[in-house]
Amino acid sequence: MARILTIGAHPDDVEIGMGGTIASLKGKGHEVTILDLTDGEPTPTGSREIRLQESQEAAKVLGVDRRITLDLPNRYLLDSIENRLKVAEVIREVRPDVIFLHYWTDAHPDHRAASQLSEAARFYAKLTKTEMSGEPFYPRRLFYFFSSHFRLLVKPAFVFDISQFIEVKIRAISCYKSQFNEIRGNLRILEDLKITARWWGSRAHLDYGEPFASRECLSLKEISAIL
Ligand SMILES: [Zn+2]
Repeated sequence: MARILTIGAHPDDVEIGMGGTIASLKGKGHEVTILDLTDGEPTPTGSREIRLQESQEAAKVLGVDRRITLDLPNRYLLDSIENRLKVAEVIREVRPDVIFLHYWTDAHPDHRAASQLSEAARFYAKLTKTEMSGEPFYPRRLFYFFSSHFRLLVKPAFVFDISQFIEVKIRAISCYKSQFNEIRGNLRILEDLKITARWWGSRAHLDYGEPFASRECLSLKEISAIL
């Protein structure tokens, strides 16, 4: 069993980027924690209370073990020493084998900051002789999910098979009724996400898939893993 931590700037980012992968990982018995760096508010049709409730509902749909929401500022998220330390403390507490972060390029400044500060926090988490809570720990693997405000055409390191979990992914994102609704006129995003997952699936001989980037080389122990 692997222990997994996935870090998003706002509630719903993780679901959009890798909701199907999370559902699949949970189906295989892995431990998954979602960390939202902010509560995502203010937004045009949301509130802090509604947003927290929606994110807990979405977590339940995906079957995650735990969802943590930090109090960092939405819209003005920065890669600061203070914020790195807060995330590093979560990493030291959860002690994940693998962490998933926002892709490093994004039109949303919060997403870029989330990627940078979380990557730094992975390093900080292993420091000794510090004021941070918890014991030193260094997650072995780091991958990036795509939940981007750019219409990026990326070359991923791998595409995760979510063929059995595309409907669960859409159901989880549908929990965010304060974000995707008729007032905001953006309900089409649900259809778009399904089409995008189908397209990524088609690039990797799958029905539906979610792409991930990696700065490091990937290794294989069994050829069956890519068949
Ligand atoms: Zn976001």
